[in-house]
Amino acid sequence: MTGNKFSIEYAKEMDDADKLSSYRSRFFHPQLHNKDAIYLCGNSLGLQPKTVKSFYEQELNDWAKYGVEGHFEAKRPWFSYHHFFTKSLAKLVGAKETEVVAMNSLTVNLHLLMLSFYRPTKQRYKIIMEAGAFPSDMYAMETQAQLHGFNPEDAVIEIGPRKGEHTIRIEDIEATIKKHKKNLAVVVFGGVNYYTGQFFDMKKIVELTHEAGAICGFDLAHAVGNKVLHLHDWKVDFACWCSYKYLNSGPGAVGGIFVNEKHVKNKDTFRLAGWWGHDEKTRFKMKKGFKPTKTAESWQMSNAQVLNMAAHRASLDIFDEVGMDKLAEKSLALTAYAEMLLLSLKNLKFEIITPSNPLERGCQLSLLFKSKGREVFEKLQSKGVIADWREPNVIRIAPVPMYNSFEDVYTLYEIMKSVKK
Ligand SMILES: *Cc1c(COP(=O)(O)O)cnc(C)c1O
Repeated sequence: MTGNKFSIEYAKEMDDADKLSSYRSRFFHPQLHNKDAIYLCGNSLGLQPKTVKSFYEQELNDWAKYGVEGHFEAKRPWFSYHHFFTKSLAKLVGAKETEVVAMNSLTVNLHLLMLSFYRPTKQRYKIIMEAGAFPSDMYAMETQAQLHGFNPEDAVIEIGPRKGEHTIRIEDIEATIKKHKKNLAVVVFGGVNYYTGQFFDMKKIVELTHEAGAICGFDLAHAVGNKVLHLHDWKVDFACWCSYKYLNSGPGAVGGIFVNEKHVKNKDTFRLAGWWGHDEKTRFKMKKGFKPTKTAESWQMSNAQVLNMAAHRASLDIFDEVGMDKLAEKSLALTAYAEMLLLSLKNLKFEIITPSNPLERGCQLSLLFKSKGREVFEKLQSKGVIADWREPNVIRIAPVPMYNSFEDVYTLYEIMKSVKK
């Protein structure tokens, strides 16, 4: 190996040694200035697997060929289409196959799960969440409190970073849960915060929540396909995610949910029902009286959105092939490499607000600029890098192990290095 880590030769050697490097060519890379862009935005919208088109064609052809009979005659029969996701999703989030289903979209699912698991009483009605959560999650919690007649100002408790800090300390989460213990109904956290990239100690948050006698749910938008998860073993009560970020399933792609089997099996668990959640054997008897399937599929209301879900199936094939463990291993090396290079820059004034501890982050680094942030961002764009800008002065980069290379990261560093002091 070349000794100098701050050289393109070193980056190329790392790519040569990378067992996952061939996956890069399985995706379409957007074009910028007539060449492949350096795409560091997989945390917003993942790239398109080249196989997606054929998955769509399969469904379009089956629809043309069979019409309604496609529900049973299609290569992947539409009647059971959601079943084709169960195994892969269970593996991705560390769940039993009875605990997951692909359906709807993220915020819709968050509301549906809250309708099941936020059942406030006069005594227990508070929701604890992270401050600085994604806005959709804030709006969801605000209106859930209102739906049940509570004032969000009182009912929704946010835990934020301490003054001068950017990430949330677990001891502050613990103290807040303990403080509100008597009135606490649910704790809803992100797995990975979208802004700082902080990966929370999910297992610990579940433990603390359960000790307080409350229910614990997670929004895994930035965690699924990024971190190795063990939702079942961590005793998470419920979770939901989208599949267009790290899961590369395309704009507006279908979301997914996890419901712990203890709630799936519990006869008293309430869910809003539709026919696709009804027991499969008697679904087409079209009778009165909802009889839920014995799995998380009982949360489904409508029949599967096959045309939307085809891309998700194409993408999950690749995740099945690679496995989260290998992705996480490469992710660790790639993000650490990016961090090392960027921290060496003397020409720019910025701070990495993502935790430096690899256990507390995924494949995202958020750079908070003291000055020149916008200028750096524009320079990156002009040199063919697609990153993400967040007001007032943060550049988020996501070196995604599935399709980014060490050379991508090195090129980012070189461009940033060339910005005048
Ligand atoms: C991306 C993201 C969303 C987006 O919600 P949709 O319902 O898919 O539009 C919501 N919450 C979080 C935390 C996200 O990261």
